[in-house]
Amino acid sequence: MLKTFVFLGAPGAGKGTIAELLCAKYGQVHIATGDLLRAEKASGSPLGQQASEYMVKGLLVPDELVVTLLTNKLASPEVKARGFVLDGFPRTLNQAQLLQRELDKDGLKVDLVVLFEVDRDLLLRRLTARRLCKVCGAIHNMMFTPPKVENVCDSCGGALYQRSDDTLETAINRLGVYEQETGPVINWYEQSGQLRRITGALEKHANFAVFCQEYGLE
Ligand code: ADP
Ligand code: ZN
Repeated sequence: MLKTFVFLGAPGAGKGTIAELLCAKYGQVHIATGDLLRAEKASGSPLGQQASEYMVKGLLVPDELVVTLLTNKLASPEVKARGFVLDGFPRTLNQAQLLQRELDKDGLKVDLVVLFEVDRDLLLRRLTARRLCKVCGAIHNMMFTPPKVENVCDSCGGALYQRSDDTLETAINRLGVYEQETGPVINWYEQSGQLRRITGALEKHANFAVFCQEYGLE
């Protein structure tokens, strides 16, 4: 049974959506560095405030701010017991190498590194139509998977909102940053022979089915 995953892919490629489905079914801990950072911001911590200055512009948050959050989370007993799906980390070559060192230290390894592939037009359409639940964080899309009741979360009834970095202008910036900063991470995993590629372009349940089939999850 695969327990530890790294999900790579552009903003809007569906990493978070597939990670939610996977963790709900198989019990791994979903570690999304974007969610960790947004939670820091919501808590009003200095780290959260600093991070949000980068996030609103679509820039990467400096490694020293992200890495502590990530390593704390990785070290938790539930992660040891249940495994993890890393979503949104590593995003730079430095982060990839750091993750490798962290896992080596704990005698852990990544079972599967997956790159979700989606073309640019669809990425932008998805990002700008994306709405999140304020309560449970569930991802909805006004264009493809609109909630049953307008602006209300299908899973928990919470209110939906648009992330401030999901405007068209910022989404375009994020795609540029992704190509430049995360491109080398993809090459790195490719060269080490670990990288697997899969489409991220399908409707979420269909995409999850393809994912499970491809990697032998039933
Ligand atoms: P998406 O993958 O859709 O861009 P995320 O929620 O993963 O959304 O990330 C939102 C923002 O959080 C990023 O644009 C960036 O500013 C910050 N962020 C998340 N993960 C990292 C990371 N590993 N390194 C640096 N910044 C990050
Ligand atoms: Zn909800």
